[in-house]
Amino acid sequence: MGKGTQAKLLAEEFGVPHISTGDMLRAAVAAGTELGKKARAIMDSGQLVPDEIMIGIVREVLASPRARNGFILDGFPRTLAQAKALSAIFDELKSGDYKVVNFEVDDEEIIRRLSNRLVCEKDGKIYNVEIDGVSKGGPCPSCGGRLVQREDDKEETVRKRLKIYHSSTEPVLEYYKDGGLVLNLDGTSSIDVVNREIKMMVEE
Ligand code: AMP
Repeated sequence: MGKGTQAKLLAEEFGVPHISTGDMLRAAVAAGTELGKKARAIMDSGQLVPDEIMIGIVREVLASPRARNGFILDGFPRTLAQAKALSAIFDELKSGDYKVVNFEVDDEEIIRRLSNRLVCEKDGKIYNVEIDGVSKGGPCPSCGGRLVQREDDKEETVRKRLKIYHSSTEPVLEYYKDGGLVLNLDGTSSIDVVNREIKMMVEE
């Protein structure tokens, strides 16, 4: 169960936008914008896009009317600087309460799962070799496009992403821990179980 799958589901159920920084960057890459040109190599190599760029993008989208009644923010903040900037943005916008969801999954399990993940070149839908019975190079069950592995899901790149995760992103948890805002979940549970646990926390 990926964080994107869960975020999308919750956004639908709560009737709020799913704001994924990874999706926004991939859309910029596909559209060939200035941002996309800058982000492409960074993403493909498994590194983080610089904080100033990410903070600017998130500030703009959170200030837009579509985010007025709440949102699910997916993939941000990934550094301490981003977390601090997000607090400032929430203050500026006088946003209400928020919660932080942390999916706990072993490094080796992440490597195994991402090596099984394929994406359709045409419609961007995500499949799993083991769960969906699809194969690399094969047709997308939904549109017939070709299924490929995301450049940043290659094992060597995933190992690099994990290293960066432990050094840059894990400290973000400490930042939120004091406020008791973090829900730690077993990221290997089923989509349904995780979904229920998050909703219970939000309704508390
Ligand atoms: P994701 O789809 O959330 O896994 O994001 C894919 C890639 O986009 C990441 O590996 C980073 O290269 C980049 N990215 C997404 N969100 C952020 C962020 N908050 N800060 C820096 N880079 C990001």
